[in-house]
Amino acid sequence: MAASDANRDEEGKRLSRDFIRTIIDEDVKNGKAGGRVQTRFPPEPNGYLHIGHAKSICLNFGVAAEFGGKCNLRFDDTNPAKEETEYVESIKADVRWMGFDWEDRLFYASDYFEQLYGFAEHLIQTGKAYVDDLTADAIREHRGTLTEPGKDSPYRTRSVEENLDLFRRMRAGEFPDGARVLRAKIDMASPNVVMRDPTLYRIKRAHHHRTGDAWVIYPMYDFTHCVSDAMEGVTHSLCTLEFENNRPLYDWVLDNIPAPSRPRQIEFARLNLGYTVVSKRKLIQLVKEGLVSGWDDPRMPTLKGLRRRGYTPEALRDFCERIGVSRADNLVDIALLEHCLREDLNNRAPRVMGVLRPLRVVIENYPEGQVEEIDFPYHPEDASMGSRKVPFSKVFYVERDDYMETPNKKWFRFAPGREVRLRYAYYVTLKEVVKDENGEPVELRCVYDPESKGGSTPDGRKVKGALHWVSAAHALDAEVRLYDRLFTKELPDAGKGDFLDHMNPDSLERLTGCKLEPSLAGAKVEEFFQFERMGYFCKDKDSTDAKPVFNRSVGLRDSWAKAVGKG
Ligand code: ATP
Ligand code: MG
Repeated sequence: MAASDANRDEEGKRLSRDFIRTIIDEDVKNGKAGGRVQTRFPPEPNGYLHIGHAKSICLNFGVAAEFGGKCNLRFDDTNPAKEETEYVESIKADVRWMGFDWEDRLFYASDYFEQLYGFAEHLIQTGKAYVDDLTADAIREHRGTLTEPGKDSPYRTRSVEENLDLFRRMRAGEFPDGARVLRAKIDMASPNVVMRDPTLYRIKRAHHHRTGDAWVIYPMYDFTHCVSDAMEGVTHSLCTLEFENNRPLYDWVLDNIPAPSRPRQIEFARLNLGYTVVSKRKLIQLVKEGLVSGWDDPRMPTLKGLRRRGYTPEALRDFCERIGVSRADNLVDIALLEHCLREDLNNRAPRVMGVLRPLRVVIENYPEGQVEEIDFPYHPEDASMGSRKVPFSKVFYVERDDYMETPNKKWFRFAPGREVRLRYAYYVTLKEVVKDENGEPVELRCVYDPESKGGSTPDGRKVKGALHWVSAAHALDAEVRLYDRLFTKELPDAGKGDFLDHMNPDSLERLTGCKLEPSLAGAKVEEFFQFERMGYFCKDKDSTDAKPVFNRSVGLRDSWAKAVGKG
């Protein structure tokens, strides 16, 4: 039974309560917000979603569904310089692919620019905000440090009328970029630096992907986020721990404007995954510097990359459920992610045969020109997956690694004089090895026992193991890409130096001339398979009719299950 099943009752309802669900249980019980639960997933459209975002997506959409509530998709698009429509579309596609639906609740923080402006004027009118003419550098100097209080700006005591006039002229475009900002008037001596008169608005002439050139002033994240939540009736605003210090500001803004609703911010620990980086900035760097082939490089922890690698939404949702949510910073073993994929594909992937590093075999006593169509089930334990015919003939390929010249006794594969079993076909005995000028084997010459068809003989002799093979005349020539971790260090961005110094030079291995069974000719891009004994694979979008390309999604060996004693 999967760990995720153990967490649920017979109707699939979650039994375990993490700290967020415990808080929401309480809020619902106390009739807060009328017992309603509303969440949102708020990406900034400045990059592609990654596995860390998957955690947030599963949490926000998951919590809403469990409590009979709704989850909105909201683009936090307050920073006009960095945002692009391309990212918006890709994020929408990724959330959908993960299996979640925002229905008609697709929002943009920029939808609220007019209301935000109104709330800013409200703060000015109530003496809670002022226009500051200090330069950015001077504001920074006035802010103080963690140990020293800040100093009031000389503009802090401006009258309401003057502030209102200046703010309206900021909006009208009378001042150059950076000349003035609007700040909240809170407390320059606050022990929390965030509360030392934070900037609410800045002047910036930049084209916005939705509002075009309508605005030359833009609201800051801290002001925008809480107002957007309140506009949408969000009850629980779930965000990552680095916003903990910003919570007092979140509350301050909502307490000082006529907010249409009163959301509550709760922070949780972000996902960190070993041997990879999950920061958009660093992922952008990998793409821009050409260190990976793009956002969807199968080695990338982006949802696009994971998808191309062969990860399924089912596996990613299972992973997110297993890692859970807490407030403690944590580092998740990448082996757990792989384990979740393996579990999913073990149940669902059709078994087929593919030889990655081919070695030719000829059966001397097999009739020339004869082809037998052998029935192969797609799944050993699931007959409903059906079967297909696989052609067997005199010449076929096996895995180079399945031959050894002088093996020990426990070797149940090809070796001089030994009899081996070919999966669903015959017993064959190796008689002679043809070698090239370097002594490398190029052909195994064997004889077969015609009575052993299907894997047993009248004399009942046992031949251990079952090797995969692909008939030479029928084989599909393919490229297969094998992947390893992108970084050699578990925490590539920790410590001194550049995370790029820890890139794994062997993270991609491309094998050409691989031989696949002919049934794979009909495979579609993204379709997944288990290549028997070799791992789980999916068809890559680089495939052509002449040359299919397959990615190894994950190997068969499960290091995580072993580590936790389940293997
Ligand atoms: P990055 O650090 O990669 O730039 P971000 O937090 O700036 O990430 P956003 O687009 O603002 O990216 O993120 C959208 C949502 O996803 C936010 O609520 C954010 O807290 C959450 N999120 C981002 N990264 C992670 C992570 N590693 N683990 C969990 N949640 C995350
Ligand atoms: Mg962010």
